[in-house]
Amino acid sequence: MRTVILARRRLRRHRISWNCCKKIFLAVFFFSLCLAAEAQARWIRVGLVTAPSALISGRGLSGKDGGGRCFSLPASFSAHARGSNVVIQGKSYVSPVIVSSPHQIRCGKVSYEGELVLRARGSQITVINRLDVEKYLRGVLGYEINPQWGMEVLKAQAVISRTYALAQMGRHEASGYDVCTTDHCQVYRGTNVLHASTDRAIAQTRGQVLTYKGGLAHTFFCSDSGGATADVSDVWGKSVPYLIVRKEPFPSESPKARWEASLSAGEIQNALAKKGKSVGTLSQIAIERRDAAGRAATLRFTGSAGSSVLSSAAFRTLIGAKKVRSTFFEFSSEGPRMTDVPDPAQRREAPHAARKIAFDTTPLTAAEDAQLKALIEQKKFNVDERLDMILYPERRRNYLYKALGVEAPETEREREPLEQPAEPAKRIPNPSRTEVFANLTGGSVTLYGRGWGHGVGLSQWGAKSMADRGWSAERILEFYYPGTVIQKR
Ligand SMILES: [Zn+2]
Repeated sequence: MRTVILARRRLRRHRISWNCCKKIFLAVFFFSLCLAAEAQARWIRVGLVTAPSALISGRGLSGKDGGGRCFSLPASFSAHARGSNVVIQGKSYVSPVIVSSPHQIRCGKVSYEGELVLRARGSQITVINRLDVEKYLRGVLGYEINPQWGMEVLKAQAVISRTYALAQMGRHEASGYDVCTTDHCQVYRGTNVLHASTDRAIAQTRGQVLTYKGGLAHTFFCSDSGGATADVSDVWGKSVPYLIVRKEPFPSESPKARWEASLSAGEIQNALAKKGKSVGTLSQIAIERRDAAGRAATLRFTGSAGSSVLSSAAFRTLIGAKKVRSTFFEFSSEGPRMTDVPDPAQRREAPHAARKIAFDTTPLTAAEDAQLKALIEQKKFNVDERLDMILYPERRRNYLYKALGVEAPETEREREPLEQPAEPAKRIPNPSRTEVFANLTGGSVTLYGRGWGHGVGLSQWGAKSMADRGWSAERILEFYYPGTVIQKR
């Protein structure tokens, strides 16, 4: 108390009032709080568009240019570039111009939180949305995942999208921003796609990221792995300890779990030529190597000018990722028609029905193995059954005896000798190299596949199945990225 009195006396001597001092103290205190909040916020710069001009609109717009000049802006205006200046309504401003508002700001047909930065370069103007990462995620999750799904899968998506965003910082630095709005980085649609559920998932995981040995993890994700994730080295060539093959415990319920694509020999030849892997007139395509889950890893193409090997992931990119939806496929030049593949409504039930069967996991004997391969060659199984055997080799015995129409013998003694099949077995290719192949003498090949996407990391449909069965976001993330930990950043 004595100290306060002395301080007051000293202030009076210097003609400074006690109230004035209190005001200065409070101003400094609140300024410090603002600085702290600023330090906590993680800003991200999202490149929205680069074009000759941009249409901006919103309420209460104000601007500040690169020279520090502040000015008010109309509710709607067009901006274009002139050298290193931004021209708005005939007036030139030093680039970049920062457009702010207490409300959302519209660029074209999309509204955004945060501020817009208009950057001039030559005759082009680039519009950049600068905002807090947590707010940015609102415009990502609302588009990247179905907001109707369970909270735990939404939370898992929030963590991996946040991690992915922070890991992408500066990816487009040459253009003056961090990330773009397409799936090259992450799809971002501003406030046009906000949902209460995804906002809640972001809030409940605020600041949480996935790390591995202290660094941000590579949190790749895809729509549907088709039952097992891919090893990243088979897709992009470099190994990552936690991006490996993982067989999912539950069947996918995606209505697009199965797909079919017809490719002409000419289409494949052109794709190979683009990659410098031309084989002349294509006559055969074969799966050279499968990964641990049965996914096609590498393909061999044979033609009039020799043969070449290409990774399935590269092949998918060459043909088009929308046509060849995943690398989880097999093919046939005379295979089953689409009618042989159950329709999506039936598929939804089929995996559950399959799970109820008590599968005999006894390993196949050599004779049984040869027998099954012969039956596969004779096309005794439909596409679904063949894919199921690839994904779940332990079910092969069930399929064998089902096709033979006899009960599986229970003892070793009973298992030899094996009954002869109804039709004589054909010679089959060496299974260690080319288990599945197709001749293109008919001029085309049909791919029958499962899943959608590159298959690396979290599968959204797989994660949904887990969340529906009570798995927490943490458990889902541990499954898809084993060895990583969740940390707050
Ligand atoms: Zn990008």
